[in-house]
Amino acid sequence: MTKDINAYEVVCRTCRKKFSVQLFDSHEKNLFVAAKKDWYCDECKKAYFKKQTSALSKTHQDIGFAELEGTEKMISWAETIRAELINKVNYLNQSLTFSDAAEKEISDKAFEQLFNQWQAEKNAKWWIDNRKMTVRDISSQIAKFAEKIRQNHAHP
Ligand SMILES: [Zn+2]
Repeated sequence: MTKDINAYEVVCRTCRKKFSVQLFDSHEKNLFVAAKKDWYCDECKKAYFKKQTSALSKTHQDIGFAELEGTEKMISWAETIRAELINKVNYLNQSLTFSDAAEKEISDKAFEQLFNQWQAEKNAKWWIDNRKMTVRDISSQIAKFAEKIRQNHAHP
């Protein structure tokens, strides 16, 4: 193998192992970046994501969400997405205002139904497929749940 001119030796912040990275700015800037940036080797990066994933898994299971199924990589990604989507739901829930208590009750039930559905979703792929879901998307799902709840009230 030919020695790459853009390869610079850096030190992993966690395990102090030396490894090489490729940098493509001027030699001067590359030297600066190689010395100043926080570098982490592949093993430490993997270990970090594993730790982060298991922390998220625990947090989610503590609030009633299913343990995810899929490859390690998919689960790691899905846990991050799941955290973001739960944040979006909570954000939406907190931003709503109601004209009366009955409306609030219907809304609370709608959120509960959405959460129940999400809590049961154990396929990592489902979360990955839904990664682009916006607050607006969630809002329209909540509206659908609320509409059904209203209909059931009207025609018992
Ligand atoms: Zn390391």
